[in-house]
Amino acid sequence: MSDAMGSILTSPGRILWPDIGLTKQGLLDYYEAVWPWMEPHLINRPIALLRCPQGIDSECFFQKHASQSLPAGLRTVTLDEANAAAPVIDDFAGLAGLVQLSALELHLWSAPASNIEHPDQLIFDLDPDPGIPWKSVIKAALLIKEEIENMKLSPFAKTSGGKGLHVIAPLDGTTEWEEIRQFAQGFSKKLAEENPQLLTARSAKDEREGRIFLDYLRNGRGTTSIATYCPRARKGAPVATPILWEEVEAGIMPNAFNVSNLPDRLKSMQQDPWHGFDAARRALPRQDFA
Ligand code: ATP
Ligand code: MN
Repeated sequence: MSDAMGSILTSPGRILWPDIGLTKQGLLDYYEAVWPWMEPHLINRPIALLRCPQGIDSECFFQKHASQSLPAGLRTVTLDEANAAAPVIDDFAGLAGLVQLSALELHLWSAPASNIEHPDQLIFDLDPDPGIPWKSVIKAALLIKEEIENMKLSPFAKTSGGKGLHVIAPLDGTTEWEEIRQFAQGFSKKLAEENPQLLTARSAKDEREGRIFLDYLRNGRGTTSIATYCPRARKGAPVATPILWEEVEAGIMPNAFNVSNLPDRLKSMQQDPWHGFDAARRALPRQDFA
């Protein structure tokens, strides 16, 4: 596929991750390898772009709205009454278009472009204070898993490719943003109150010292989170990777997977680590966290 698609890239040999020599064409080749796993989580969603035209060691800029002219294969969706729009991908050609824009990180809305007022996932971002041991993050992730299961939702885990983990529960897309945000806030605050040594639901710096910030704010309208299977604009091109709960328990690190080792990991797996994601969609439970 990349030979045909490669022709749309200008400067395919430009090095974007100098530490590993990964080029623009290399990024497209990586995407080709993971496309079957990535596609269901990527298509039909508003995307914000972290663009680094000269690679990760030079200036990058975060682009929340689509500029006038987009490469072929991309469409846009209107986001608000001010007519701001975001790019949307329908197929591999669209992803190649974003590579052409040197969009090294793709950050997604939690709602589909075709149902933009109704998120179809809950997302909790675990942001550990750098000083705390990784086993505390594992403990917190497993606690969140259990609490989500208690509400009859299905939690799925992924590495962020950065410093933490994300826990995601697929929803059926019948609830609006504000209700979901309030639910996530209530959930996080209650869990933090019950586990004050481990967690905080407040983002203030001194609150986070020695703890994990359980960030529920990703559930608000207009926010985004790193796309599943997307590399990060950091050394080694670590990838935000779906993992099994057994792997969380085993202490897998947030930057364990990268563009170099992920294709082999996927080939060696019996089934998609997020097998059953769509089948697990449920309505947001009615729950009073007060
Ligand atoms: P980590 O595990 O390191 O916390 P993460 O993916 O959870 O990784 P960030 O990379 O810090 O978190 O990104 C947080 C959110 O902030 C992103 O999902 C995106 O919506 C937004 N964001 C990311 N980069 C930028 C930027 N350069 N400018 C503005 N917003 C950004
Ligand atoms: Mn985070």
